[in-house]
Amino acid sequence: MVSSEYELRIAARFAVFDQDGNGYIDREDFNTAAKALLVEFGTAARSDKGQALYAGAEAFWQGMAGMADRDGDQRITREEFVNGAVKRLRDNPDRFGEIARPFLHAALDLAAGPDGTATVADAARVLTMLGVPEDVARPAAATLDTDGDGRVGEAEIVPAFARYFTVPE
Ligand code: CA
Ligand code: CA
Ligand code: CA
Repeated sequence: MVSSEYELRIAARFAVFDQDGNGYIDREDFNTAAKALLVEFGTAARSDKGQALYAGAEAFWQGMAGMADRDGDQRITREEFVNGAVKRLRDNPDRFGEIARPFLHAALDLAAGPDGTATVADAARVLTMLGVPEDVARPAAATLDTDGDGRVGEAEIVPAFARYFTVPE
């Protein structure tokens, strides 16, 4: 059995999803990420933005479970993640963007102004809170601003996030 470099990279991403580090990904990891984002941006869980974030986290979890939880025990083990998610993400990276979109939209909303876009610095904060290493998040956020107006919108952050998790750098 040969592990490609690609599969090893995806396995490293497992650690990002496993927010509480207990060895498997489950709903609680997505709630943990949502909670951390709300604290970071000083937003109440009961607010509209807070509720949207938790709904997005649940949709993200359901999408991930649908792709990777092959035995249906509501936990994604490292093996399920590598064997289940890797192949599907590689075949269809857009799908990953789609399941992550409501969560990313809500996360960006915590930092965004009335026009729905955030500054590059705030976008970097969002990525860092989602487990992207800080030294990666800053330059990544800058490159997210594909139209160069100094702000990051959903149309920019979703493909970048999907790229980080699915495609060799
Ligand atoms: Ca976990
Ligand atoms: Ca499972
Ligand atoms: Ca922009």
